[in-house]
Amino acid sequence: MLDSIRIVLVNTSHTGNIGSAARAMKTMGLKHLYLVDPVHLPDGKSNALAAGATDVLGKATIVSTLEEAVADCGLVVGTSARSRTLSWPMLDSRECGAKLIDEAQKYPVALVFGRESSGLSNEELQQCHFHVCIDANPEYSSLNLAAAVQTLCYEIRMHYLAMQREPYKQIEQESADKLKADPLLDYPLNKELEQFYEHFQVTFSKTEFIRPKHPGAIMSKVKRMFNRARLESQELAILRGMLSSIDKSMQNKE
Ligand code: SAH
Repeated sequence: MLDSIRIVLVNTSHTGNIGSAARAMKTMGLKHLYLVDPVHLPDGKSNALAAGATDVLGKATIVSTLEEAVADCGLVVGTSARSRTLSWPMLDSRECGAKLIDEAQKYPVALVFGRESSGLSNEELQQCHFHVCIDANPEYSSLNLAAAVQTLCYEIRMHYLAMQREPYKQIEQESADKLKADPLLDYPLNKELEQFYEHFQVTFSKTEFIRPKHPGAIMSKVKRMFNRARLESQELAILRGMLSSIDKSMQNKE
């Protein structure tokens, strides 16, 4: 279960934070670290702060975009130190631990952390199904990056241990029953959602519902709406079919 959880650090500036994050992960039993476009590659400072977790650091996957880091994930949770103009489904740290553990049984899941200076961009936050905010002092709520990684990895571990102790917890039973009742219930991977948004934008730009010069505003709202709905694979297939039928009828008219 812990093996299906990855920690993603986006555009980290301080190499020491990368090492400290690796150490925070390993103490909680997590080992899959993804670095998206780090400002500097891990160095001696990272190794020193990783201490006994240099193995996690050494095996880190380095990619250039968040999209690549989460393409094969079925659940992506983004972290934010403050509430943004963007309102999005929110989790507290405890719920975040439970959700990641629960869904890690089905597919890879990701927890995404932002830049030390400015956090995650709105565009990156929109690639996440949920946002999590550690309920810190409202007058000073911004934790050091590695401290935030430690706090949330601890919550993941607490839920992991609780599940080991009581493997037939109510919540698991409910989701198992749901899956049994409907074997087709399955969530799409992030890359499939991204392909759907792309298709949506292309088709509705052609119908002129979306102004090609300013797709951003409407696409943010569309993504928020579909994220909130937590589309199942079958529902996504229906929506793709609807878009294709519009594409086809426009081609016939041309
Ligand atoms: N000044 C930035 C804060 C960045 S802190 C901002 O205003 O967004 C660096 C990273 O640590 C954040 O992107 C987030 O991933 C994590 N972090 C810090 N405090 C957090 C909190 N209270 N809840 C969740 N994540 C937090």
